[in-house]
Amino acid sequence: MDHHCPICQRTLEKDSHQERVDYHCSPPRDDHHYAKRVSFADETQILKLKVRISPENNKLYLKIHYDQGYSEVWTNPDDEESKIRINHILEPDLTDLKALQTKLRTYLVFS
Ligand SMILES: [Zn+2]
Repeated sequence: MDHHCPICQRTLEKDSHQERVDYHCSPPRDDHHYAKRVSFADETQILKLKVRISPENNKLYLKIHYDQGYSEVWTNPDDEESKIRINHILEPDLTDLKALQTKLRTYLVFS
């Protein structure tokens, strides 16, 4: 079964490991990058999801730890400490990146 990027619809590149399988949108585009980690036993079960959206060069990152029940939002890939932790699963609507961008910025402002 092919897995597709929900943002650009390309087929995701597959990277298998022992207990998990990583899929990502490759090569990364300027405006977004999408990656997910699924269970090796059941590929419909998402363990982690990481999305970068960067319209107008403002990078925004979202990582969802479905396996651990929390999410993270950040803007600077070189600054681990700037990550904002959100203590729940934030379900992103990847069909509306503008709205998602606004939502993520709100988390950054009010943290
Ligand atoms: Zn994509």
